[in-house]
Amino acid sequence: MTLLKSWVASANNPDTDFPLNNLPYGVFSVGGDDPRCGVAIGDMILDVQAVEEAGLLPFDAPMFDVPFWNEVMEEGPDTWATLRTLLTTMLAEGAPEQAQLKPMLTPQAKAEMHLPLLVAEYTDFYAGKHHAENVGTMFRGPENALPPNWLHMPVGYNGRASSVVISGTDIRRPWGQLKAPDADAPIFAPCKRFDLELEMGAIVGQPSDGPVTVDEADAMIFGYVLLNDWSARDIQAWEYQPLGPFQAKATATSISPWIVTQAALAPFRCNTPSREKELLPYLKDTGPMLYDIELQVTLAPEGKQPTTISRTNYKEMYYSSAQQLAHHSSSGCPMTPGDLLGSGTISGAEKHQRGALLELSWGGKEPLTLDTGEQRSFLEDGDTLTLKGAAQGDGYRIGFGTCSGTILPALPDPYAR
Ligand code: MN
Repeated sequence: MTLLKSWVASANNPDTDFPLNNLPYGVFSVGGDDPRCGVAIGDMILDVQAVEEAGLLPFDAPMFDVPFWNEVMEEGPDTWATLRTLLTTMLAEGAPEQAQLKPMLTPQAKAEMHLPLLVAEYTDFYAGKHHAENVGTMFRGPENALPPNWLHMPVGYNGRASSVVISGTDIRRPWGQLKAPDADAPIFAPCKRFDLELEMGAIVGQPSDGPVTVDEADAMIFGYVLLNDWSARDIQAWEYQPLGPFQAKATATSISPWIVTQAALAPFRCNTPSREKELLPYLKDTGPMLYDIELQVTLAPEGKQPTTISRTNYKEMYYSSAQQLAHHSSSGCPMTPGDLLGSGTISGAEKHQRGALLELSWGGKEPLTLDTGEQRSFLEDGDTLTLKGAAQGDGYRIGFGTCSGTILPALPDPYAR
């Protein structure tokens, strides 16, 4: 696969995240108008609602009279493929629709982005082996780093859809129960160890009612976003046993605005790593279901230049989203279009490849020095975190844009009334 040429000139720039090969789906508004569905092409957005209203789509019922992509997801893989083929054709160099579509383009610089989907439910996993080993070593020691179940299943927990927010939303430092290891009792106070988690989010596009195979699960995935699972490490350390994280991860989860479709990522499929233990049949890999997506994280203190604090790759995951989805359904749990599955923190083997400050600063024992001279063990008020990701092709790339958030100071004691 090489760059597909578009009549939108900026889409032919080899450095754009959004060439014709990509065509990711988002929801945008301009100047306070109602949000509408759009597709990114170069530095522009094609208004898909306008395309539908102009009668250029072949579907029986309107899908773009709502500001989210769930209705498209519900239509299923044949509709996904038809829509993608049609958009690719109409935006290709020399397409006869050019004159008609040109007024339907909006510069991304003028648009405000919104959540691209109604998030039905949110589940987060713990499926990166380097991350699990690092965190386990810190919390339980090197002997018990990986829990005994870890090599046999993608460990996860049911998170909160209600606090999933779009990139650019400010993140308020939470309060919670904290207990220092040497203290007799916990206190209720602002989190002191606020952290990011670099993850990919898989968006489930088709429903299930009963257990699905890994292959069936793979076909149910509509696309992917970047995901930052904001985490309060001091709250987490005190609350997580025996049922896992709760309030530590309920404050907010940020996602990038563009859903990059599974179809756009197809040339970048790769295998999961080799297995230490044979997986049970229902979880076995049946083909390449991870993706080679380069990821990076920058941290910018308030008013200062960003420093790249991590570089890693989605292919470092031990379990694919298809395996996670198959496992999620194995109890009979129904899955819904709009379900969001967090991959788990993506860390590589090297120190600079770690996807959370908890690991990068080794629990605060080895603070990072930023390019601006400041040190960081965890996030400070005013810090802006930005995730970026892209699959690199031959002369083009399939980019995700950015997923960012700025830390606001904790409010005064929320119970002091
Ligand atoms: Mn997480």
